[in-house]
Amino acid sequence: MALRDNARIRDAQNDADRALRDLRELTEHYERLSAFTQALWRVLKDRFELADEELLAEIEAVKREAVPELREAVRHCGRCKKPVSRAARVCIYCEAPLGTPDPLALLDR
Ligand SMILES: [Zn+2]
Repeated sequence: MALRDNARIRDAQNDADRALRDLRELTEHYERLSAFTQALWRVLKDRFELADEELLAEIEAVKREAVPELREAVRHCGRCKKPVSRAARVCIYCEAPLGTPDPLALLDR
């Protein structure tokens, strides 16, 4: 009984060690990707003078293409009917006010 318990504890410890290594690897990957994204965002804003709203709308378009179930991540402008970010306060196409932004969408910024 004690031997079997020890084996289970060892297996659980190995699983935990593996999970921790995976988490560290993912964290490092995330940090590299985050730095890369921030650099690109800065270049697009500074050199190409793109607005945050244009970039956010493009991100939403990429999400829709990659993951169809994220379609509801955008809403449509009441005036021009074009898709806009849920985080947007104003339509990037016709400048119509869009009402209160989705708080969850704002957290993604
Ligand atoms: Zn509009």
